[in-house]
Amino acid sequence: MKLINIFCLILLLGATARAETLQSGVLMAATRYQTPFYVKTGAQSGPTIVVIGGLHGDEPAGYLAARELQKWKITRGTLVVVPDAHIEAIRRGVRAYPRNMNRLFPGNPNGDAMERLASQIWDLIKKSKPDLVLTLHESRGFHADDPRRYGQTFTYDFPELAPRFRRVAAKVNAGIAPRKHRFLQFVDPFPTCPTYVCWK
Ligand SMILES: [Zn+2]
Repeated sequence: MKLINIFCLILLLGATARAETLQSGVLMAATRYQTPFYVKTGAQSGPTIVVIGGLHGDEPAGYLAARELQKWKITRGTLVVVPDAHIEAIRRGVRAYPRNMNRLFPGNPNGDAMERLASQIWDLIKKSKPDLVLTLHESRGFHADDPRRYGQTFTYDFPELAPRFRRVAAKVNAGIAPRKHRFLQFVDPFPTCPTYVCWK
């Protein structure tokens, strides 16, 4: 799913700075899982989007794309970014350490470290009151080549979301020449992943 969801943001947020405000903080403070988050608000009102990268430490495209978003200048709406959600898995280059973060939501504030991390991400999502929540991942293959793979897809959890992503995909794909690189839609629900829990 390389970099797929960045394009949604291009459609909704400006890229030129005026009076942007930036807030930041950390999740899981003073633990090995401590990781930053950023809240960037443009001068004009608009939608709020939460972007989470690095749920899986062995998918660099996801967290590298999210880190790039930190640098974007926001003119309209609010962008909340957690670039390196599971920073210990990223350091180690592994999918899960010790648990798969994409299966732990909404987490548990009194649970183990992974459950507390999920809970703090979930609290940030709720507090942000987002119009859209995106998690960025990487796939080992193109969906167009192999329907089991996620590469170049908007993957979502519920079929009723199809019309939204159809509109987004049409705009995004208009700027992508190679057919193989155009975005497809893929309904693949993962209960306990962040986006599933958001919509549920
Ligand atoms: Zn992933």
